[in-house]
Amino acid sequence: MYIKAVVLDNFKSFGRKTKIPFYEDFTVVTGPNGSGKSNIIDSILFALGLARTRGIRAEKLTDLIYNPGHEDDSDSGGPREAIVEVILDNSDGTLDRSQVINAAGSEDVGDVDEIRIRRRVKQTEDNYYSYYYLNDRSVNLSDIQDLLAQAGVTPEGYNVVMQGDVTEIINMTPYARREIIDEIAGVAEFDAKKEDAFGE
Ligand code: ATP
Ligand code: MG
Repeated sequence: MYIKAVVLDNFKSFGRKTKIPFYEDFTVVTGPNGSGKSNIIDSILFALGLARTRGIRAEKLTDLIYNPGHEDDSDSGGPREAIVEVILDNSDGTLDRSQVINAAGSEDVGDVDEIRIRRRVKQTEDNYYSYYYLNDRSVNLSDIQDLLAQAGVTPEGYNVVMQGDVTEIINMTPYARREIIDEIAGVAEFDAKKEDAFGE
């Protein structure tokens, strides 16, 4: 399974609907400083619900909505809604149909060779709302997270290596580094379960 494309609509610097295709093996995004390269990574973390505390570079969720006055902190008063869709190529059957149906809570998920995860954040005058969709079915964040975990993608995992992560790994204690290896090897899950069992 791999990311086939990302569609950004009104997300951060992407004020126009933009579809960005990815290759299966290796894709490099280049461009001048401030042109929006890291915003693409932010959009993937946002849509897949993978943001960790230091993940997405925004103070509030609503800062992710495109704002033409972003640089001078003014508010355009324009449409206040951002949508990101991550299109996964699942033609290798990483996730099977029943897993997708289970997560979507519906049989009506279409062709699961393609898994589309969409998130929308909407700002109203006094509040904001966040919605997730799986192949156009409305779902909760936990449904998305559970599904992705079955394909080995988790918020704690290192599917996304952020700027500074490598330096951090070099500088950490051997014990902390071992914890990361346990996480990747899938041993950490059992350690956590063991802790829970001892606690009871
Ligand atoms: P670098 O090479 O320096 O890492 P980059 O290509 O990764 O640059 P990004 O950090 O992705 O650049 O993009 C930064 C740009 O996104 C800034 O110009 C910033 O003003 C703009 N930006 C961030 N949030 C918003 C927003 N909500 N609305 C409009 N523009 C935004
Ligand atoms: Mg950057």
